[in-house]
Amino acid sequence: MIRRILHVDLDAFFASVEQALDPGLRGKPVIVGGHPNSRGVVAAASYEARAFGLRSGMPLSRAYRLCPDGIYLPGRHERYREFSIRFMDILKGFSPQIEPMGLDEAFIDLTGFDLFYGPAAVAAKRIKEEVKNGLGINASIGIASNKLVAKVASDAGKPDGLLEIAPGEEAGFLAPLPVRDLPMVGSKTESVLKGLGINTIGQLAAQSLEALKTIFGVHGELLYYWSRAEDNTPVAHIDQPPKSISRSTTLAVDTLDRSILAALLHYLSERVGAQLRDHGMRTQRVSLKLRFADFTTITRSHTIKATTDLDQELFRAGWMLLESALDERRHPVRLVGIGVSELSGGERQLGLLPSVQEKHERLNAAVDKIRKRYGFKAIQVGRTLALKKLYPAAYEGNRLKTSSL
Ligand SMILES: [Mg+2]
Repeated sequence: MIRRILHVDLDAFFASVEQALDPGLRGKPVIVGGHPNSRGVVAAASYEARAFGLRSGMPLSRAYRLCPDGIYLPGRHERYREFSIRFMDILKGFSPQIEPMGLDEAFIDLTGFDLFYGPAAVAAKRIKEEVKNGLGINASIGIASNKLVAKVASDAGKPDGLLEIAPGEEAGFLAPLPVRDLPMVGSKTESVLKGLGINTIGQLAAQSLEALKTIFGVHGELLYYWSRAEDNTPVAHIDQPPKSISRSTTLAVDTLDRSILAALLHYLSERVGAQLRDHGMRTQRVSLKLRFADFTTITRSHTIKATTDLDQELFRAGWMLLESALDERRHPVRLVGIGVSELSGGERQLGLLPSVQEKHERLNAAVDKIRKRYGFKAIQVGRTLALKKLYPAAYEGNRLKTSSL
């Protein structure tokens, strides 16, 4: 099967975040890195600043000479991290096979995903739209049969690019490009190659493996294969185990109807439970978050007897907290959230009656399997049907339009 790998890269990331956060900066040369008189370098330059010849890594003093009217900002890494998490969350909605490369780029393996999205280019377009709508930032995407070519293609298409290299055309695409366009070819390697009369990737591809190994050692082997567009490395699923997992949603209409609240809480418990199982983790602490119509917000937690990864147990704890909260305060609810913390690795403990626990485990495993294959919406647990019957518009809204779901 021919692989379809996407490399998604946000354009001028730090500068784009600043422009997304402050409309007054849009369309202007924005430079993130520090005060122009400081000794630092440009961390990111907006495309408006690049038009003046600015590049990331350039000393700020030089940048200032080229672009004295630019807007120089110190950078806010907390915000960039926030945007990065939201970016990766968008990508996770398309495939579980994601390999983040720093804050603002990632590889996604969409091989065999045609059933969901059609051709990879269609999925790529949707990713670009979701990133633009969700973050206010442009993403450039390269599509190819391997990571190397996808990465070079996303760079080649910048800014706001979408470039697909058809199977069989990988080496031909790379051939006319300067050797510098290969990842890992820095100025040092570039100047050695130039000294040998090798300027393009195609000229590099004409060298023998032995010759390149003699000159560059192990690195020479990579140059040999990469110049021929050969790269079999898989998209590595790198996912840090989470410290906590939560899901919440704002209701379309504030309510005190317990059947709706129960259905919604159950749905959110399923979401949290599925993610717990996906990470092979269990929890012992369940938290409920409620926001009332007057915007007061409360959080309640409950420690359960034995660690669990069952939706049913999360719901049970959450519902107990919700009922006692509503007994204390009868006021319409605006937002419901459930979270788990104190997560631990897999070892199974028996909390419920063994037969009940096993029944739930079998059910959840079957539901997980269907959802992994056909999407979360493919199957609906009976308890959440109340949402559809009583609250059709809101349910659709909650399901499809609230990003936290
Ligand atoms: Mg980038």
